[in-house]
Amino acid sequence: MRVGIGYDVHAFTEGRPLVIGGVDIPHEMGLIGHSDADVLTHALTDAILSAMRAGDLGAHFPDTDPAYAGARSIELLEHAARLMRDSGWRLVDADTVLVLERPRMSSYRDVMRATLAEALGVDVEAVGVKATTTEGLGFAGREEGVAAYAVVLIERATG
Ligand code: MG
Repeated sequence: MRVGIGYDVHAFTEGRPLVIGGVDIPHEMGLIGHSDADVLTHALTDAILSAMRAGDLGAHFPDTDPAYAGARSIELLEHAARLMRDSGWRLVDADTVLVLERPRMSSYRDVMRATLAEALGVDVEAVGVKATTTEGLGFAGREEGVAAYAVVLIERATG
């Protein structure tokens, strides 16, 4: 078995859609990035690649490559999950934490879990999503951006 950890941050800006965990979330600001800047999906993808010791998101999907401009990050996660399976690994479990002040994530958590689980090809019970604020402290507290942490456990697939 292997564990992997992923961490990502994206800054808020006006005039961009907010996409977190593959879900479009109504908000007055979105996140800046080359792709859709889906901070949670990026952290989770990095955790999987890290568990495989296969580099990171930037190596697989360079932000200098126009092919990934505006990319839907959930598709990059699907790609990483396929790479994992093709390399003989199986995802046992994944858990994530979003760090942001607003908007509140509670009503989106279940659809994020379902969306991420579908991209990963695993049961929804194998994917955790939760969110926390930082009590107004730091960049997340000042609503300058969003951070996300992800951990995964993978094992060698048998047969
Ligand atoms: Mg990112």
